[in-house]
Amino acid sequence: MTKTKSNSHFGKSGGVFGNRTGGVITCTNCGKRTRDTGHNEGTFEMCRRCIEAQETANGILDGQYTLDDVPEKDRDLVATFL
Ligand SMILES: [Zn+2]
Repeated sequence: MTKTKSNSHFGKSGGVFGNRTGGVITCTNCGKRTRDTGHNEGTFEMCRRCIEAQETANGILDGQYTLDDVPEKDRDLVATFL
């Protein structure tokens, strides 16, 4: 990821950075506190499980598979993104 100088305009004061300091993220989907482990948790502001569920949901929306192909334990979570 490259930072460009035009990005320096980034500073609305307040909140946004709170989720990022120390790499601790509160998942905006399930509320779980997690860390950025290099799977873009910080970018998505979601835990890894929710990110994967969202990716699965995207695959369903793209017609790659259906909700029936998702393991039952993950189905509810995936459905929240549909
Ligand atoms: Zn989550």
